Amino acid sequence: MAPPDPKARKARRAALRPTGGLKAFADAKRYDESLVLGPTQKHVLSKEGRDLSRRQDIIHPSEMSHGDWCPKATYLRIKNLRDGGTFTKEAFGFQSLNIFQHGHEVHHKWQTWLWQRGVLWGEWKCLNNEGQCNWSFYATAPSQCPNCDSTNLEYAEVPLSAEEELLIEGSADGFVPDIQALMEFKTVGEGTLRFEEPELLKAHTHKTVDGKSLVDYPALWKGINRPFRSHQKQGQIYLWIAEILGINADKVVYIYESKFNQGTKEFVVQRRQKLIQPLLDSAQEIKDALDHDGPVPECPRGGCKHCEPKSAEKEKESGQETASAGKGSPRTDRPAARRQGTVVRRQATRGDSRTPDKPRRADG
Ligand SMILES: [Zn+2]
Ligand SMILES: [Zn+2]
Repeated sequence: MAPPDPKARKARRAALRPTGGLKAFADAKRYDESLVLGPTQKHVLSKEGRDLSRRQDIIHPSEMSHGDWCPKATYLRIKNLRDGGTFTKEAFGFQSLNIFQHGHEVHHKWQTWLWQRGVLWGEWKCLNNEGQCNWSFYATAPSQCPNCDSTNLEYAEVPLSAEEELLIEGSADGFVPDIQALMEFKTVGEGTLRFEEPELLKAHTHKTVDGKSLVDYPALWKGINRPFRSHQKQGQIYLWIAEILGINADKVVYIYESKFNQGTKEFVVQRRQKLIQPLLDSAQEIKDALDHDGPVPECPRGGCKHCEPKSAEKEKESGQETASAGKGSPRTDRPAARRQGTVVRRQATRGDSRTPDKPRRADG
């Protein structure tokens, strides 16, 4: 018998080593002996893996807003789903999920404060499940459900859909009719800056005498004097959709909250469609290609990791989880409430100037 080849064994082990989502899951497993942290991480990772509520068959304003957006990749994703294919859900580790959750909670905090002030308009959902109410309605800061009088309400933000026009769908963090402003709440930490404004982060990173890199957080926070470019584009897309839907908004108010010291800032940005016209043009190309067999949109970089099947295939092999789009139709993974007959359909609201102040029954 030949002696075992340590090189081959090492290669075999490497091939079996999980990466991506699987790796994160295995990492959580290592904490099995911990009392709370490990089991909780496993719970969060597995819950995330099962969550297919984010629609993949439309264009998200958040993806359009980023500098590296590839319209071709978005086209390919939607085309694949329309052809009955599956989509690859991006796998995140626990730390990323923890960051997202923190963002959600900061949203919730500000929305609750605006609700308490009586100024927040949007979609509300009744959580009175014992009475099986499930009512969904639009109102400014309601105190109870118009259907069952329950005070157990949840803010469902401001759904903004221009699916019919350009396949774009998203939701703003809030709308305050008194000042005609859509709201965006953003938490800013080092990760945000690395992603959104690397130059600003660099400008406030200093080398110490012994060669360490230190970030001057107070100066960095002070140095943020306008919303980040991607946040501005996102806000302008929301304003554009709001106008189509008859929501009377002419500006976006951004509340930035620092993760370094919980400092807060406000920025007000008026409507400026010029900023997003190229993005809307790209969305039009995607729609034309999908609905009218127009030419496939080109990758702005002549091929990138988002649109090259080869790199996508590689990513898949490296442990990203593949999720089915649902029983033959990508539509089945819309949020549950959307499938109930209580949601205001955009067709129903189009043209009629929605009066935000009046609570209105959502009819489907
Ligand atoms: Zn109710
Ligand atoms: Zn590309």
